[in-house]
Amino acid sequence: MGSDNIIKVVKFGGSSLADVNQFKKAYEIVKSDPSRRYVVASAPGKRTPDDNKVTDMFYACYDMAAAGLSIDSFFRGITERYDSIIEGLGIDCDLSEEYEIIKNMLIHKAGRDYAASRGEYLSSIILAKYLGYDFINASDVIFFNENGVFDDERTNTELSLALKMHERAVIPGFYGSMPNDTIKTFPRGGSDVTGAIVARAANADIYENWTDVSGFLMADPRIVKNPLGISVITYRELRELSYMGASVLHEDSIFPVRHAGIPINIRNTNDPSAPGTMIVPSTTDYSSHHIITGVAGKKDFSVIHIEKDRMAYERGIMRRVLEILDCNGINVEHVPSGIDTMSVVVATAQIKDKRNYIAEAIRRSVSPDYVAIEDGLALIAVVGRGMVRSKGVAARIFRAVAEAGINIRMIDQGSCELNIIIGVDESDFERALCAIYNEFVK
Ligand code: ADP
Ligand code: ASP
Ligand code: MG
Repeated sequence: MGSDNIIKVVKFGGSSLADVNQFKKAYEIVKSDPSRRYVVASAPGKRTPDDNKVTDMFYACYDMAAAGLSIDSFFRGITERYDSIIEGLGIDCDLSEEYEIIKNMLIHKAGRDYAASRGEYLSSIILAKYLGYDFINASDVIFFNENGVFDDERTNTELSLALKMHERAVIPGFYGSMPNDTIKTFPRGGSDVTGAIVARAANADIYENWTDVSGFLMADPRIVKNPLGISVITYRELRELSYMGASVLHEDSIFPVRHAGIPINIRNTNDPSAPGTMIVPSTTDYSSHHIITGVAGKKDFSVIHIEKDRMAYERGIMRRVLEILDCNGINVEHVPSGIDTMSVVVATAQIKDKRNYIAEAIRRSVSPDYVAIEDGLALIAVVGRGMVRSKGVAARIFRAVAEAGINIRMIDQGSCELNIIIGVDESDFERALCAIYNEFVK
């Protein structure tokens, strides 16, 4: 049992609130420790692998309303999910007025973000009622500025005050409000970020993030069979891995808790006694038996290849290429280069409609001998604080991938030696990831 002055902020993901049984598990977890005073709730997620997340159902509803189609029966599909939870919990909670308001707002084309946010709004009302906790609406305490950027100072001030007035409360994840009172959401998976914001404002001792795996695993369990768990990981390692596809925790969840040094504990709602993973600011404990902490990766990258004789001796080429991409709102992931070549790796979705224009702009600006854009690249990040002290890590990665008969198309190593990134054909992605995992975990 937690002591009186310890404050824990707990966030339950969509998988932890997918149906009535999951709500019951969340209840047991909160009630088993009185220091679990603030709860951040997601919208109900998938109950089975081919089920729909309620958030996706709301997005679909919004699209239907925007296209002028009737949303009646689809909307009923959403309300039935909530009603079955309420009924299964046996609580006195009638959401019919809320449903009417939301449906009207959707029909009158309230924003897409408003639609998506209703998933967490409704599940939080139910969870608050079930737990006997107060409900704090995220739109009253989480703020974005007029440019849609999260306003951390205003949020922290007002949210801290609100939390002081509520001994115990449930706060919906994923959204907040704009200065004109419209709703804005964080990116997908953003309830993790809300949890971190609440942890900071509550000055919590720990931020517990409850999900459907027993912590951060060394690789995506959908790719590597039964990967080992990670007991301790640093904020920076976690950011590298989650940015590269280890989606268990949104990478931006680190920022709100970083300054306060609040640790994050990833836990499994379906196995509450498992210790999970501790995410800490830094650690002097390098004693893990593995050199790498984890491996993660993503598909759907493109490479812009540029060749020009004696490129390395001509000043300003890289700057001009990057400027073209910047002016077109394209984020650059990596820029591996040689003396006569330069490659720029970007997410394929970012250049989708602009590829011919970009290639032409590069031709005009730097007069290359050759420029081409190639799709179908997957990136794999091998991450570990232990890599800096070990010789031959890169050689082991390359050998493992080569022995699996896979060609490496790109290599990049961060200067802090926390990560090595390789690019392979998308068709080799899963095999390359398994080969690397097996090389380091024996
Ligand atoms: P939640 O519904 O709790 O927000 P998510 O679906 O966002 O949960 O994240 C948990 C999922 O992340 C796991 O079910 C797992 O499939 C996936 N995942 C991907 N990479 C990893 C990893 N390295 N470790 C653990 N889980 C991972
Ligand atoms: N419900 C939102 C999503 O599906 C936010 C979250 O679950 O974190 O992306
Ligand atoms: Mg999530």
